[in-house]
Amino acid sequence: MLLKTLLNRVHPVKGFVYGDDRLVEDRSAVNGARIEVALRPRKGSRGYCSCCGRRGPTYDTRAARRFDFVPLWAIAVVLVYAPRRIACRRCGVKVEWLPWCAPAGKGSMTIAMSLFLSTWARRLSWKQTAEAFAVSWESVYRAVQWVVSYGLKHRDLTGVTAIGVDEVAYQKGHRYATLVYQLDEGRRRLLHVSEGRSVKSLLRFFVMLRRAGRSRGADLLGGIGFVCSDMWRAYIKVIRKKLPAALHILDRYHIVANVNKALDQVRADEARQLKAEGWDVLKRSRWLLLRRRRRLSGKQRWKLRQVLQWNLRTVRAYLLADALHALWEYTSPTYAGRFLDAWCRRAMRSRLEPIKRIARSLREHREPIVNWFRAKKRFNAGIVEGLNSLAKLRFRKAFGFRTFSAIEVALYHELGQLPRPNLVHRFC
Ligand SMILES: [Zn+2]
Repeated sequence: MLLKTLLNRVHPVKGFVYGDDRLVEDRSAVNGARIEVALRPRKGSRGYCSCCGRRGPTYDTRAARRFDFVPLWAIAVVLVYAPRRIACRRCGVKVEWLPWCAPAGKGSMTIAMSLFLSTWARRLSWKQTAEAFAVSWESVYRAVQWVVSYGLKHRDLTGVTAIGVDEVAYQKGHRYATLVYQLDEGRRRLLHVSEGRSVKSLLRFFVMLRRAGRSRGADLLGGIGFVCSDMWRAYIKVIRKKLPAALHILDRYHIVANVNKALDQVRADEARQLKAEGWDVLKRSRWLLLRRRRRLSGKQRWKLRQVLQWNLRTVRAYLLADALHALWEYTSPTYAGRFLDAWCRRAMRSRLEPIKRIARSLREHREPIVNWFRAKKRFNAGIVEGLNSLAKLRFRKAFGFRTFSAIEVALYHELGQLPRPNLVHRFC
């Protein structure tokens, strides 16, 4: 009896009433039992056609089905209901709409259970969620997938003025996904995920945005004034074509990452060569060189000084990379541009091929790099901080997933800030 009272409080369903509940022995269930609660239509109420949503008279009643509900004390709870078929004047005989279930969902999971699992799937990994609530991994996946698709359908895409485009590698770097973020201050979220990192991958975002705009009668594209990206050619090409009026900003995070990569290449080559000659001065120097000096401990700084006293290619590369950090302190785009030019000239004379390659690419992208300073001067910090702050978050959990669709769902779930369906009760 208490269970009925509780259900009426936490999960009332309009037009339906809860009936008897019972404990059923079930060896396959955790703790060897499940709770079944009967659900039936309120007397005299007519069901809704699942096709068109209109009310209609009952045609017949199908066999009872079980719907998974939020477990109680690690005992599975299922709602048992025999769906009616509605004789719809428009659609013919159709199964009724079940308001506790995802619309058009053939699954047996209630919305409450989907929300419950998906909420836990943000706090824990999907695998841990499945274990904690004794459901399959696929059930967690389906729950999150449904919540995400609800969110994508109901999200508000107006007011996007700054976006960031980024690529991420998954499956140990064998595959890529293209991510588009909104970078407006106070509204940073993932807007789009698509497979690959080609021109087509990014175009899909614009197709999505145009469609979303058309259905609301708004031009969502026109409001985008700033685009932040890395130096990947495919992206630059699409951005130029689709947003010719927007200020294109090359993301600081990617430039620093590329310089560090070049530095590390110089170090690795030289370390190998020195090792062959029997001198291990560069042994375990990787993090000393790549980390910013102020982040090193006293002992590490001492060790770094030991390395820096030698006349090595690595040391020259390190000093060049270190000097480039000063670029980001500039506020004036003009002076930042001049500093960049001077640095590139120095780098081109360095006789270090990886560093020269960086200098060439910085020269090629001088304009969008300097735009970073234009944005810093005039606009909000969100764009300038760019993808850096989001990068840390992005693949915390998604890495383990095999298929692209699971990664896609996980990323939207984690970073999309999607709206969720409202329920009377908060289950977790
Ligand atoms: Zn109908």
